[in-house]
Amino acid sequence: MSETNIENWQEKQKILVFLAHPDDPEFFCGAMIARWVSLGHELHYCLLTQGQKGAQSIDTDPERLAVLRRGEQRNAADVLGVKSVSFLNYVDGEVYPSDEMRREIVRVIREIRPTILVTSDPRNLFPSDRRINHPDHRAAGQAVVDAAFPAAGNPCFYPELIREEDLAPHSVKEVWLSATSQPNLVIDLTGYFEKKLAAIHCHKSQIGTDLAEFDRRMHERFVKDDLTGEEKFYEQFFRIILG
Ligand SMILES: [Zn+2]
Repeated sequence: MSETNIENWQEKQKILVFLAHPDDPEFFCGAMIARWVSLGHELHYCLLTQGQKGAQSIDTDPERLAVLRRGEQRNAADVLGVKSVSFLNYVDGEVYPSDEMRREIVRVIREIRPTILVTSDPRNLFPSDRRINHPDHRAAGQAVVDAAFPAAGNPCFYPELIREEDLAPHSVKEVWLSATSQPNLVIDLTGYFEKKLAAIHCHKSQIGTDLAEFDRRMHERFVKDDLTGEEKFYEQFFRIILG
C-alpha cells in the first residue's frame, strides 16, 4: 500500500469528524487523523455529547464530568493537530436520530463546509461475538449520514438556516464510516500508532491510572502482516465516495 496517496486526493481536504462522545475520534480513527494532519489536511471535530455518563459511580456529577471530558478532548485534539473542537448539547446515552438532531448536524456541516465527513458505522450492532456496540455510536452514525445526504446539500431542507443564518447548502464529497465491522478499506497506520496512543492518554478519566497496562492492551490490537510477519496496526473504514 502506497504511503503517499492511498486516499487518491489531489488537493488538501477539509475533514470533519462527527461522533458521539469525547474519546471516540481517538479510539476509532486516531491514527488516520494523525496521518491526515501530517499530510496537511485540515481537521475539525464535532461531538454530539460531552460524555456525561463516562463513569462507573452513581456519585459522579455528570456536569462536572462533562467539563472534564471537554478539556480532555481538546487536549487530545491538540496532540493530533486538529484545528477546532465543538460540542453539541445532547446527553451521553440519549442519542436518538431525530429531525431536530439532523438539523443541528446540518447546521455544523453548512458552517464548517468539509469535503470529507467521518462518522461511525450505523450498521455495527455487534463489533465481534464478544461485544455489543454502544447505541450512541450507531445512532450518531445514522444521524450524521442522514444529515450528509440529502439534507445538508438540499436548500429545501431547513431553509431557515439559509434565510436566517446565511448557511448555504453544502454537499460533502465523501463519507468515511469508522468503528465498522464491514470495511471496504483497511489501512496500515503502524507509523501513526504512537501518536494515536499519546492522544488517547489525554482521556485520563476514561483509561484508568495504570498506563502501562492500558498500553499493553492497546498493543494487542496489532496484527501480524501475512506476508512479512511484521507487527502492524490497522484502522478500517467503510468509505463512500459521493462524486
Ligand atoms: Zn463512545
